[in-house]
Amino acid sequence: MSSANQQFASDNYSGICPEAWEAMARANQGHDRAYGDDQWTSRAADHFRQLFETDCEVFFAFNGTAANSLALSSLCQSYHSVICGDIAHIETDECGAPEFFSNGSKLLVARTEQGKLTPAAIREIALKRKDIHYPKPRVVSLTQATEIGTVYQPHELRAISDTCKELGLHLHMDGARFANACAFLGLSPAELSWKTGVDVLCFGGTKNGMAVGEAILFFNRDLAEDFEYRCKQAGQLASKMRFLSAPWVGLLEGGAWMKYAEHANSCAQLLASLIGDVPGVELMFPVQANGVFVSIPPLALEALRSRGWMFYTFIGVGGARFMCSWDTSEERVRQLADDIRSVVIEKQ
Ligand SMILES: *Cc1c(COP(=O)(O)O)cnc(C)c1O
Repeated sequence: MSSANQQFASDNYSGICPEAWEAMARANQGHDRAYGDDQWTSRAADHFRQLFETDCEVFFAFNGTAANSLALSSLCQSYHSVICGDIAHIETDECGAPEFFSNGSKLLVARTEQGKLTPAAIREIALKRKDIHYPKPRVVSLTQATEIGTVYQPHELRAISDTCKELGLHLHMDGARFANACAFLGLSPAELSWKTGVDVLCFGGTKNGMAVGEAILFFNRDLAEDFEYRCKQAGQLASKMRFLSAPWVGLLEGGAWMKYAEHANSCAQLLASLIGDVPGVELMFPVQANGVFVSIPPLALEALRSRGWMFYTFIGVGGARFMCSWDTSEERVRQLADDIRSVVIEKQ
């Protein structure tokens, strides 16, 4: 496969990894039951229970917006609120879907430090008001890895979940890049989820190498009551479910999910190390997952675009965002780094 057209605008510019593709082909043999009653869907769910070392409830949705919104709506009544970070995907990039699917549960935005919520920020919002006029805080939602490529350490997760327990809040994790967080920390999925008090995890498949799909894992099984009805009502119950679930079998059975997350992370490290010494270029955050956020002079950014590079500057707090994918080629990373170096020097 040619890497000549690879871009760094988003990790979902990438295609489908061979393991997911091949599992879809295997699922494409004749007929099978519909709506998730097929063997692939139960195999995929079993793989998750094995990987997470626990008997969790597993559901599949088409994308992250639906997974997050439906998960949150199952943790909330309409008069409840969800505490999330100021740059949370659910706040800035889901078009109000969490509020819509929960019939009005309000998102309460907390300040973040390097993209991360803290117990103090959660406490400040949860304890601000106790009266009946304020939407009652019920859930904390955090993103692992964060929208700006940082990763919560286990002790940070534990401190947050302790705060949640103390305040009677459920804990939801947006894991669109959960694999990248596991890869960075070298910790097991269990250690970064239910063992640190996460009630519900939305585990991203798309950015990890699938065509489409997100898994929703309820470690607190009581919270999953009637969740299949929510999925159906929201248009998220795939009739040919096996094509949503089989790719998970492909990713999970031989460890491809981890291999690709490690690869994407290491490409981000490479990029960061290649541009770290360019004068006028500043890494905005520690590079921990698969994203590199860089402050670059505006004229140089323009020049970089005119050399054909695509990247976003609207995510999080500005700056240029470069995302690495499961298939990013090192050669392409080096080309990008060379071009960043030369446009910055040219425009000085
Ligand atoms: C990509 C992403 C999602 C999922 O987005 P969809 O486009 O709805 O699949 C969710 N959360 C975060 C942090 C993301 O980066």
